[in-house]
Amino acid sequence: LDYYFEQIEMNKHLNAFNEVFFYSAAEQAKVVQQKIGDGIAGKLAGMVIGIKDNISYKGHEVTASSKMLEGFVSPYSATVIERLIREDAVIIGRLNCDEFAMGGSNETSYYGVVKNAADTSRVAGGSSGGSAVAVQADLCLSALGTDTGGSVRQPAAFCGCIGLKPTYGRISRYGVIAYASSFDQVGTITSSVGDAAILLEVLAGADDYDSTVSKNVVPAYAKGLGAFEKKKIAVLKETLESEVLDPEINSAILSSIEQLKEQGHTIEYVSFDLLDYLVPAYYVLTTAEASSNLSRYDGVHYGYRNLEASNLNELYKKSRAEGFGEEVKRRILLGTFVLSAGYYDAYYQKAQQVRRLIREKMEELLNRFDVIVTPVAPTPAFKIGENMEDPLVMYMADIFTVLASLTGIPAIALPLGNNSEGLPLSIQLMARHFGEEDLLALSHNFL
Ligand code: GLN
Repeated sequence: LDYYFEQIEMNKHLNAFNEVFFYSAAEQAKVVQQKIGDGIAGKLAGMVIGIKDNISYKGHEVTASSKMLEGFVSPYSATVIERLIREDAVIIGRLNCDEFAMGGSNETSYYGVVKNAADTSRVAGGSSGGSAVAVQADLCLSALGTDTGGSVRQPAAFCGCIGLKPTYGRISRYGVIAYASSFDQVGTITSSVGDAAILLEVLAGADDYDSTVSKNVVPAYAKGLGAFEKKKIAVLKETLESEVLDPEINSAILSSIEQLKEQGHTIEYVSFDLLDYLVPAYYVLTTAEASSNLSRYDGVHYGYRNLEASNLNELYKKSRAEGFGEEVKRRILLGTFVLSAGYYDAYYQKAQQVRRLIREKMEELLNRFDVIVTPVAPTPAFKIGENMEDPLVMYMADIFTVLASLTGIPAIALPLGNNSEGLPLSIQLMARHFGEEDLLALSHNFL
């Protein structure tokens, strides 16, 4: 713990942490040490972990990196936090992220941009940028993030880490600040597949507080890592042919495919003709859900309140106008628009139908193949400020990650070394619903 405290101090310029829990982490470490001595320590004893600042931890501030929640102290802990503590992980602090997890570069945080440790003029990725950089720069051993449309996988890819988004419904969302509830999922950022496996084992499984969590038994993921089976792997052709794809990412993926072949897996290139519909469907649905979820921040129930308002309506308006940042407002407006009478059928309902088609297409593919390969992001980490002018450019960069989110399937981002400029490259693997065991074993073998 002292080592990590020192590392954090030395890397303050990266802006990864919104707060370091010096006191509670040290207290927890003492308890864990005692338990180790007594031979009763849990599975995660000794794991120092950071949490994205949208996960509630009793007695600690949780802000979602928004002015709206500045100073808000959580009255209870998220299920994932309870489970980490039960297995004796030590929670070192809360990590910076895009405001309300809306973004792909960690530039929308009220607490400022997170910098990529590989090149500090570049973004960390987002929205779980702090989580990725904390693992990248060794400010903690592993981190929790949340992934609605790529927020664990894309920053992991930008920072050379392993990012796992489990199946929708594998891990409880209780106590996680909602962005788009039918997409949100807690995920892990780690530097080994082993850590991802053991964390998933601890975090996954039924929860009385979240009815969307599956009651499926939780496999012993960590033990299963040694298992080697030959897999049928499909590469989505259009994603590699995409003109937005960086050539170095493309060739890194092509050589990974060769490597997978050499390991005995069968590879087939298949066509996926719905690529153009992914980003539009994702943004119509997630903004709709966000506009509903964020209506609770009214200046009355939580966090920021404008003190000059002279009536209720004014209080709502001013608190929300001042408490939310630009990107969050844009999404609330978009979401309200697509849900409004007269537009609902044209946008929201249509997007739901498109989501259904995408799922059916993916299910059909996953009946024939065990694993699906695509890039994670079209480019390596871009320059800070580069994509901030045009939100559409930023949204389009989510093209490869939102597929698993729309479908609810598990997906993992794996590092493939660095490009000629020293920036991390990566590959994405996806599997069937609740196919994490396969995904992790294959990843472990592959790396
Ligand atoms: N970049 C995507 C978005 O802005 C993903 C965010 C996320 O997964 N939380 O919606």
